[in-house]
Amino acid sequence: MSVDVLKEASFEPDFKGAEICPSPNFGERRNGYTPDALILHYTGMETGQSAQDWLCAPESEVSCHYLVHEDGRIVQMVREADRAWHAGRGTWQGRDDVNSWSIGIEIANAGHPKGLPEFPEIQVDAVLKLGRDICRRHGISQNRVLAHSDIAPGRKVDPGERFPWERLARAGLGQFVAISPVSGGRVLGPEDDGPAVQALQRLLKRYGYNIEVNGVYDGQTQTVVREFQRHFRPLEVSGLADATTCIILRKLLYNSTVIDSSP
Ligand SMILES: [Zn+2]
Repeated sequence: MSVDVLKEASFEPDFKGAEICPSPNFGERRNGYTPDALILHYTGMETGQSAQDWLCAPESEVSCHYLVHEDGRIVQMVREADRAWHAGRGTWQGRDDVNSWSIGIEIANAGHPKGLPEFPEIQVDAVLKLGRDICRRHGISQNRVLAHSDIAPGRKVDPGERFPWERLARAGLGQFVAISPVSGGRVLGPEDDGPAVQALQRLLKRYGYNIEVNGVYDGQTQTVVREFQRHFRPLEVSGLADATTCIILRKLLYNSTVIDSSP
């Protein structure tokens, strides 16, 4: 690629203060979709710079709108108006082609293979500022600030159970229910079927997860519960639905004591 072509591909940042590193890996949003969800990822690579190089390499065929480095630097790679290639196969509230209706932020972090390193404060602050600005400009509601693992359960686990969702929600990005775990109560798991399992599946589906409501605590149910926990009950990422998990899910749906900055 010549230097002229690279210049051609540059653009004005949608978020003030973002550096620009244009990625060739994008297209037009399909079916007239505009962004109405924010998907958070971790890069899962050794360094932020190697992730940046990969997301901008034509042969990777992946990209994102923004990459947030460990030191808080924000790099925009694809215009928000365009369809970045960050989500792959996934579904939320019955809609697939997540890339067409979302904005994707990659957060530099080596991820599960490296034991889930802590996200530095300065990096989380940058994600907050960027995420709040995106949600404000596009009118994205707080219950549509999602993990990659929410929209692709069984395939993706990022940004992982160490990601500080509670802190984000307290500062006005996304939803979180902060309750002390309750002891006792029924735990639903792989041996179970019947109305209680069906009710749980129905609630997960209503919140947005892609799950078949069949009354059987099958593999897909275990997977979806585990991914729900990774986001909303990070101390119990087991795939077993304990009472606390079920309470959190109900509160998210019925909006009582949810940390949520939506008006
Ligand atoms: Zn991801």
